[in-house]
Amino acid sequence: MSILIKNISYLDIEKEKIIEHADIFIEASIIKKIGENLKVNADEILDGENKLLTPGFVNAHTHLGMSYFRNYADDLALMDWLQNEIWPVEAKLNAEDIYWSSMLSIIENIKSGVTTFCDMYYEMDRVGDAALESGIRGVLTRGMTDVDGKGEEKLQEFDALYNNYHNRSDGRIRVVPAPHAIYTCSTEFLKEISENAKKLYDNIIHIHLSETLTEVEDSKKEYGMTPIEYVNSLGLLDSQIIAAHCVHITDEEIELVKNKKFYPVYNPSSNLKLASGFTPVDKMLKNNIKLALGTDGDSSNNNQDFVEEMHIGGIVNKAVTMNEKAVPAIEILKMATINGAEALGFEKLGLIKEDYMADLTIFDLNSNSFTPRNNLISALVYSANSHDVESVICDGKFIMRDRELVNVDEEKVRQVVNKRWEDIKSR
Ligand SMILES: [Zn+2]
Repeated sequence: MSILIKNISYLDIEKEKIIEHADIFIEASIIKKIGENLKVNADEILDGENKLLTPGFVNAHTHLGMSYFRNYADDLALMDWLQNEIWPVEAKLNAEDIYWSSMLSIIENIKSGVTTFCDMYYEMDRVGDAALESGIRGVLTRGMTDVDGKGEEKLQEFDALYNNYHNRSDGRIRVVPAPHAIYTCSTEFLKEISENAKKLYDNIIHIHLSETLTEVEDSKKEYGMTPIEYVNSLGLLDSQIIAAHCVHITDEEIELVKNKKFYPVYNPSSNLKLASGFTPVDKMLKNNIKLALGTDGDSSNNNQDFVEEMHIGGIVNKAVTMNEKAVPAIEILKMATINGAEALGFEKLGLIKEDYMADLTIFDLNSNSFTPRNNLISALVYSANSHDVESVICDGKFIMRDRELVNVDEEKVRQVVNKRWEDIKSR
């Protein structure tokens, strides 16, 4: 399968500019050639006029299976919300429930231009199946805790997931261990996961870190260290870390992580809605820390709209720092693409560049948000919305065309999710 996109404008992240009138030739799963008036034979030729091509977006932290819980219990204090509303009903979910809610979340991700997700949840083999069927790229990270005394079971389950799903579909699916957080994992359990990551897997770990002030205060009381100092003392920072949130990262911790493979994932909607605080994005960027961007799950966001996430992330830091120049649009686009790809351990992903993987998002410029056509980098972050995403290519194949999912029956997924949710509540 080969596709030639003719005469399109595209976002060159490295040059930090929009290149106009380019031809882009995709062969199999790779961007083979970029140039003007390319003379190549292609199975499909696409007219790129009035369209804008970006690298497919990378949603670097989410919980796809949680879509049942959106708008179910909001405007509550964090612990009240978790303990009395979310956890009791979450405990009733079975593997099939999680497959369908994950599929709904995957649809939302694709429809807002996402081609790669990093998901932390359980029953991850069914999440993997949803990813394989829909055509999206995904990192499956089994959220592991041992507060329930079932740590060993989780490790075995993770090992089976890794053996069955890692590198499936030519590497489109990857599997990474995910100790849930320092307050749900014991010291010994964190150490064991860290050792396993180095010895048995790919030396990448996904974890929630420094999300709330309570977590930081408790860590200081219990271990005499802040959360990131604590996981460093256990050896975790010798691995590459996908660090969800880092809202309360301290100046000392910034010094500690800035020369490590440590990728904070910024989740602006979730942090705002759960009143977690403001992630010091501008300060981390000034220290050359590569942040990625994520939506977090539907129970806290309450959607998977990645374009909206870019918009909120793009504007909130200016007000927080009272500096209009803080976190420019291009930095948000780097987080949304190349940084996310790097954070998740993918090579040759996240840029529109020859030999890179053909994961691409096509925006329709004939839309209100892009009219008139001023700075398109600004438009992507400050005025675009997900309805402007026209088509999405992942691994060299269309997974959405003209806003229609190619491999998934969207209407059916909505029906099943509604039905299952009624059933879950009555269990
Ligand atoms: Zn999370």
